[in-house]
Amino acid sequence: MTARKPLALGNWKMNGDMVANEQLMSGLLESSALLMTGGAIQAGFAVPAPYLFQAAVRLKGTGFLWGAQDCSDQANGAYTGEISTAMLQDFEAGFCLVGHSERRARHHETDQQIGAKLKALLAAGVMPVLCVGESLEQRESGLAVQVVCDQVLAALKGLKTEELVQLAVAYEPIWAIGTGKTASAADAQAMHAAIRQALGQLDAKAAGQMRILYGGSVKAANSAELFAQPDIDGGLVGGASLDVKEMTGILQAANTRAASLGLVQQNS
Ligand code: PEP
Repeated sequence: MTARKPLALGNWKMNGDMVANEQLMSGLLESSALLMTGGAIQAGFAVPAPYLFQAAVRLKGTGFLWGAQDCSDQANGAYTGEISTAMLQDFEAGFCLVGHSERRARHHETDQQIGAKLKALLAAGVMPVLCVGESLEQRESGLAVQVVCDQVLAALKGLKTEELVQLAVAYEPIWAIGTGKTASAADAQAMHAAIRQALGQLDAKAAGQMRILYGGSVKAANSAELFAQPDIDGGLVGGASLDVKEMTGILQAANTRAASLGLVQQNS
């Protein structure tokens, strides 16, 4: 089986402006251009939709991906405020988040809608990143694995092997998002293993190839330990992705994982 290439994605959420985005992207290009051209990892940013063009212009040809934080499940028409997958294609978006807990909570997105968005992205050739995660209450009641695996299975059921392998899952415990609390590497690994097992129920062949990212207060300081776990294939990073130094450290941790998998080319 080919190794799963580490994936580190930033989620800018509703932050940034033209000037700050430029500073952030140029800082990262300066710190990580070499690492990105090596091709051992994949990395990118889910930017607010109005800045997709800016990101596309700035990041094209650099090895970084740019993507969106949400999309519509509808092709086009009278859907005020929504963004279609064709529009994402127009800006050459490499990926799009779906089902982020902030959207599940604020916009009451259901597993069914999330599944429909995911299918629309696959049809458009834009990599979906399915976000799942449990609340603190669910974790404390011992329901975390069940809740998370149910979310995964509900969104992905019916997909074919060749579709499943194109998407990534991001496990983001809600209690760890933006709180500074991170799941321990052991707890995160246990959940990732459970998710991979659930994916195996859907499709044994795809499960071993699918990337499962961890998200929830990932920083440079904790990323190496998290990314060293066998089922943690990278990270989805919120707050720390707005800081060049932090994100650079996270990209380096992803590269260390890539090296441990034999994906980093050694210069002779
Ligand atoms: C996120 O919301 O995707 C996230 C992981 O945020 P943070 O890293 O800030 O916890």
